[in-house]
Amino acid sequence: MDNRLLEILACPICKNSLRHDRQALELICEHDHLAFPIRDGIPVMLLAEARSTESERSEAQVPSRGADEQAGA
Ligand SMILES: [Zn+2]
Repeated sequence: MDNRLLEILACPICKNSLRHDRQALELICEHDHLAFPIRDGIPVMLLAEARSTESERSEAQVPSRGADEQAGA
């Protein structure tokens, strides 16, 4: 996928930028622990289609951030 396309893609939930997993053909939101599939080269930015990545790393690294300190701007 075109990197320039990726730059304009943001998570529909938190509006953060997404990480492109080229192997899994997914766009990962590390903030929400969601993976959006890319089908036929087209990112499917639907929460209903997204996969949770949280279970994969639940034991490994649990972010112990209490409040969201970087909320807002
Ligand atoms: Zn997000």
